[in-house]
Amino acid sequence: MKSLHDLYRIGKGPSSSHTIGPGRAAKIFLRRHPASRYRVVLYGSLSLTGRGHLTDKVLAETLPDAEIVFSEEFIDKHPNTLDFFALDGLGGIKARMRAYSVGGGSIRIENEEDAEPLKVFPHTSFKDVAAYCRREGLDLPDYVRRFEPDDIDDFLGEILDAMEESIREGIAAEGVLPGELELQRKAGALYSARHPDETEEIRVSRIVSAYAFAVSEMNASGGTIVTAPTCGASGVVPAVLRFMREKHNLERQVLIDALAVGGIIGNIIKHNASISGAEAGCQAEIGSACSMAAAMHAFLQGYDTDTIEYAAEVALEHHLGLTCDPVLGYVQIPCIERNAVAALRAMDASNIAFFSTAFQKISFDLVVETMHETGRDLPKGYRETSTGGLAKKYRLK
Ligand code: SF4
Repeated sequence: MKSLHDLYRIGKGPSSSHTIGPGRAAKIFLRRHPASRYRVVLYGSLSLTGRGHLTDKVLAETLPDAEIVFSEEFIDKHPNTLDFFALDGLGGIKARMRAYSVGGGSIRIENEEDAEPLKVFPHTSFKDVAAYCRREGLDLPDYVRRFEPDDIDDFLGEILDAMEESIREGIAAEGVLPGELELQRKAGALYSARHPDETEEIRVSRIVSAYAFAVSEMNASGGTIVTAPTCGASGVVPAVLRFMREKHNLERQVLIDALAVGGIIGNIIKHNASISGAEAGCQAEIGSACSMAAAMHAFLQGYDTDTIEYAAEVALEHHLGLTCDPVLGYVQIPCIERNAVAALRAMDASNIAFFSTAFQKISFDLVVETMHETGRDLPKGYRETSTGGLAKKYRLK
């Protein structure tokens, strides 16, 4: 499996596969093939939701005056495919590159082994990670530190700071999100809207939701967030981390360790299944984020590795089949609210695991495999094309 540097990326929203990935591919093409004119052809999900997800804007920032073509064609190899062309003065093709945006901001380039050779972990399943940890007497953060370069704690510290900053900015921001939905930002209101009759249970839901809304609204407005594991699902992990930090007055190193634990979960999903909504629906994005956050919550509660695994399993299992149907192609409805629901659900999954790990029947590895297969079975309309589900039913008034 690859380094956590490949999973957690600080970048601009609203979509890791539609903005961060294509932006990175465009930079590679520009570096390799300087030219006065460019054409970029978007296929599949990139084409159908590229406008709402700001793909054309990101490409134009890197390749000024590029002609962006939204093709109706789907490329079998990957739903997020894009072709880059460098043109000569007469419009003739000087160079071409096909790239696949495979989720979380990662890219693959056609006929190239791997554009980002960052493999550091020798194990690819939770079963093998846990067996190694048992043999060596390690906990999960120690496992990460054993295989990652020495700077991993510094890197995770930067990730933590960026998450905190996106919460701070999201709560402070006011007004309406960009786009035709004219969606009101809610994070600030949620954060400060204490009702006189509010119970402790409702307060917890409100505060956790406010943090998730804050990051997701930053993402929807093209602000800076951390892919955890994607932009669309970027609010779940920070919301749970921040809530736990405040509730238990946790030290920075403990939160860094929690990010390492969540990173292992996200990495296993990314390696064996998918974290891309275009490939496997929202179960791959929000489901994965919820699974990472549940594992982190369990770790922060002091649970053992078996319970951490079960928390991650419960969280992912109950997102199986979740479709991706962003209304009008914006990462807003259902995405923003869904981050808040998943953050709360992550804490529930961890609590359920605490009581029932001894009765576990389904392993985390098995649910990851199931999620992958379920994703492949989902019709195209439910995989980030905005042609099914809420995206099909909802009409602007
Ligand atoms: S519905 Fe889920 S997968 Fe689809 S864009 Fe929204 S958050 Fe991402």
